Amino acid sequence: MFAALTRWRRARVLARSALPDALWHEAFAALPFLAYLHDDERARLRDLVVLFLEAKSIVGAGGHEVTPRQRVIIALQACLLLLNRDLALYDGFENVIVYPGEFRPVRQWEDEDGVVHESDEPLAGEAMPNGPVVLSWPDVEAGADFEASGMNLVIHEFAHKLDMVKGEADGCPPLPPGMSTATWQRVFTTAYAHFCGRVDRGRRTVIDAYAAEHPAEFFAVLSEVFFADPVLLSGQYPAVYAQLAQFYAQDPASRIGAPRVAASRDVAGSDAGAGG
Ligand SMILES: [Zn+2]
Repeated sequence: MFAALTRWRRARVLARSALPDALWHEAFAALPFLAYLHDDERARLRDLVVLFLEAKSIVGAGGHEVTPRQRVIIALQACLLLLNRDLALYDGFENVIVYPGEFRPVRQWEDEDGVVHESDEPLAGEAMPNGPVVLSWPDVEAGADFEASGMNLVIHEFAHKLDMVKGEADGCPPLPPGMSTATWQRVFTTAYAHFCGRVDRGRRTVIDAYAAEHPAEFFAVLSEVFFADPVLLSGQYPAVYAQLAQFYAQDPASRIGAPRVAASRDVAGSDAGAGG
């Protein structure tokens, strides 16, 4: 889809589907953590949003009607992840489905003894390999204020999508040229063990404890923090921050004047600010 977009077609889409200024500014203003973006980054992000909205269907389900503002708010955050990467990484799916609240997909699975189990746990969001991204609108909205909610659902689910480019999410997405899988695994394994240790001991963590569920969740949750509160992540897990800065080809903490993170640091952060 995006991979097939020639320069000519891309220019045509951008010319034809101009996003109204008022709508763009309204959506952008709804996401205060984006204030750190430079003017040229905002302009490129806007082009990506136009291309994303042209290529993907963002549709309501469960009685939810998706407004133009909601579409842009979702697309904006999805595209932020790929601001300096290739939008073709989202080629594996077509649809984003938005519910008016948490949804309960019915799941069946068989255990080793052949017993079939069923669950309908409520979810705020979901991404499946080659499937749609599913979002609960109130949870998208809550994530706009990261300082208050400590989460960002859209970044979380689209980070899973990048992890799923090669299949099931495992916390190690396909890395861009120049990055080392061995380094990625060493850095993330160390940080994950450190984080899980804190959660297991019942210590309060400034990063959402849900990150301890699975290495794939750790990658998705830390991607949220990377974009929405980069200074927090670079302080807590500097080596992870450096890996994500290479992966996303962005250094958001430096945009807000934090000290640059040394890419060679390979120890897990102390989580010292977490207290308790
Ligand atoms: Zn997740």
